[in-house]
Amino acid sequence: MPTVAEALAAAQLTLTGSDTPRLDAELLLCHVLDKNRAWLRTWPERALTADEQATFAELVARRAAGTPVAYLTGHCGFWSLELRVTPATLIPRPDTETLVEWALELIPADAAWSIADLGTGSGAIALAIGRERPRCRIVATDASADALAVAQENATLNQVNNVAFRHGAWFTPLAGERHHLIVSNPPYIAEHDPHLAGLRHEPRSALSAGPDGLDDIRLLIAGAPHHLPPDGWLLLEHGWDQGAAVRELLQRHGYRQVQTRRDGAGHERISGGQCPLITAAGHGCGYTWATSRDAAGWKQPG
Ligand code: GLN
Repeated sequence: MPTVAEALAAAQLTLTGSDTPRLDAELLLCHVLDKNRAWLRTWPERALTADEQATFAELVARRAAGTPVAYLTGHCGFWSLELRVTPATLIPRPDTETLVEWALELIPADAAWSIADLGTGSGAIALAIGRERPRCRIVATDASADALAVAQENATLNQVNNVAFRHGAWFTPLAGERHHLIVSNPPYIAEHDPHLAGLRHEPRSALSAGPDGLDDIRLLIAGAPHHLPPDGWLLLEHGWDQGAAVRELLQRHGYRQVQTRRDGAGHERISGGQCPLITAAGHGCGYTWATSRDAAGWKQPG
């Protein structure tokens, strides 16, 4: 049977189609052996058993055929969380941590805000914010009951107790409520984008939204003012080339302080703004100036 070092070297050669063949091989072998990567480096001469070798070979073959590592191991790190992921959920990306960072800049450390994460998937954003802001109450929604079950399991696994999960599309589960902050990583890839072929193992409903990819973002920008208090914020993730379009949509709807943050790779990735007060068209948060400061007028989630 091959040693740890030999098994990794052979797998690395099989995984040349991946951008990260060595890392993929290490993560898969860690999963098979139930050890961490430091252990692999400490014990390169340890021989695999026949069972370990067979299981590893099967995972490497599936990875070579395109299945993402996170679906093969069933988990993925995001922020300080270890999240379970299944093919019902998008695999959380490090880009999305930029959204969490921005949210945490907006939410004071001791705030008891009510926050909504729409299309939560594995629960990544809601659970990261929930962990960092224990006094806040977060509502996480998803149109997929299967994704919501995974998110709920992730709350339990990570012992985050201030996130409530609700089934339904976008604002449907928030009827009659306002939340200080609304966040979302919606689908945003254009429906004919060739990039989708490389993402074929992930749920299409979590990735793609209409001819220009902006269908769900338009819906979120139009709907959020009905669910935000006057000083509430909306933060949205979008594609690397959609920053200008999303800022334009936010401005056209009357959002204030419209701005964009870049992800770790330097791409425009998260845009947001503060709730419109009263727009030229006469709508906004649904408040007039006289009542816009009346916090008691918000309906908090139950
Ligand atoms: N950032 C992901 C990708 O392009 C897509 C995530 C999404 O659509 N929300 O691979």
